[in-house]
Amino acid sequence: MDIAIIGGGIGGLTLALAVHHAGAADRIEIFEAAPEIHPLGAGINLGPHAVKELSAVGLEDALVAVACQPQDYAFFTQHGQLVYREPWGRAAGHQWPHLSIHRGDLHQVLLDAVRKRIGKQNFRTGHRCVAVEQDGEQVTAHFAGPHGDALEPVRSDIVVACDGIHSVVRAQFYPNEGPFCYRGTNLWRGVTRRQPFLTGRSIARIGARRATLIIYPIRDKIDAAGNQLVNWTAEIEQPVAVPVDWNKPGRLEDFYPTYRDWTFDWLDAAALIRNADFNLSYPMVDRDPLTRWTFGRVTLLGDAAHPMYPQGGNGGAQAIIDAATLARLLKSEPDPVAALNAYQAARIPATSRIVLQNRSAPPNAIVDAVEQRTGGKRFERLEDIISEGELRAIFERYQKIAGYHVDQVGRTRSTS
Ligand SMILES: Cc1cc2nc3c(=O)[nH]c(=O)nc-3n(C[C@H](O)[C@H](O)[C@H](O)COP(=O)(O)OP(=O)(O)OC[C@H]3O[C@@H](n4cnc5c(N)ncnc54)[C@H](O)[C@@H]3O)c2cc1C
Repeated sequence: MDIAIIGGGIGGLTLALAVHHAGAADRIEIFEAAPEIHPLGAGINLGPHAVKELSAVGLEDALVAVACQPQDYAFFTQHGQLVYREPWGRAAGHQWPHLSIHRGDLHQVLLDAVRKRIGKQNFRTGHRCVAVEQDGEQVTAHFAGPHGDALEPVRSDIVVACDGIHSVVRAQFYPNEGPFCYRGTNLWRGVTRRQPFLTGRSIARIGARRATLIIYPIRDKIDAAGNQLVNWTAEIEQPVAVPVDWNKPGRLEDFYPTYRDWTFDWLDAAALIRNADFNLSYPMVDRDPLTRWTFGRVTLLGDAAHPMYPQGGNGGAQAIIDAATLARLLKSEPDPVAALNAYQAARIPATSRIVLQNRSAPPNAIVDAVEQRTGGKRFERLEDIISEGELRAIFERYQKIAGYHVDQVGRTRSTS
């Protein structure tokens, strides 16, 4: 069985490795639009549910070597007051770690493994897929080069479209989808070199819906002074969406004023933003869940299948889980078309729930619950406002739908 993978991002590369590991294809080729690969983006969170799958293809050690492993997750109000904190990743009893990682580092680990295991010649850059067509026997993918020139078409048994948020293949099957759904929040991402904050292995989420700041280290001990590379994401409610472009540089004046006074005794968050190496803007956009990803010998995966708000650590993770699921089905199902159908049956319900939960009850629902009761003011005693049990329940609900609660993924033997 020959498989052509469109898009060499997180989902496409993981799929190639998982299919190779399962021995589910005779030929695996990946076609990436970019003519050259550069380490792009900022931080990305991979929960234990995704690391479990990457571990199964033998990548855990390589990823752990370049990532940070948070040990606690803490929520604060916009005044920097602690609302809720719980152990995270292995510290919460997970068998697999949670990894906070630079997207460029994650991509490089995947790409190195693909080149080594599947062969450099099978990762083809400068190949932008422009269309797919199929007959009873096979599917043909058509490509354009970096200057728009038509390239040799490629025939294979199946095509998996991992071509991201602006998927050309999805648009071919859904030509009338129109613009993305924007519900009023833009985000800015950046990285700052600084001394560790809190435990040095914390994820901090400050503020609620109107304005939130999420902060976590993604590279440890980057210099002799013990600095870390700290990733931050600033989310602000705004009526107009910024462009849907992961590489769009942002302007400090468009979001910094909201955070100018966010200086707390445990973190100068305003300075964190000011001192960043760069910042990139992106809108909180998604699309309504689809009921069909598979069309004969072609299917969709990752952001192409289920664009979701980039929050709660699931954009990359769900693409990885899609890839692992599809690889297992391609191995167990002798008929690849049946495997593609089984894949969509397995993955559409789970990913649709996350898309919808991110809209209605995002992770900052915890602080929202507090700020609604305090009217956004400082509190004296948190226990007069909300109980620890209520806070834990809100966060547990999010984790269960997101699929990374410790009861779902697997505990270490010592804590079970
Ligand atoms: C440049 C970039 C920077 C990002 N930065 C961040 C970040 O900082 N934080 C974060 O949480 N998420 C980031 N993301 C998104 C994140 O990687 C995805 O949401 C998630 O990993 C899902 O993976 P995916 O494989 O579906 O999509 P992606 O990882 O986006 O991969 C899609 C790939 O397909 C390629 N492609 C697109 N169209 C075609 C085509 N027609 N033919 C062939 N190839 C095509 C793209 O170049 C890309 O390599 C970024 C994505 C990109 C592309």
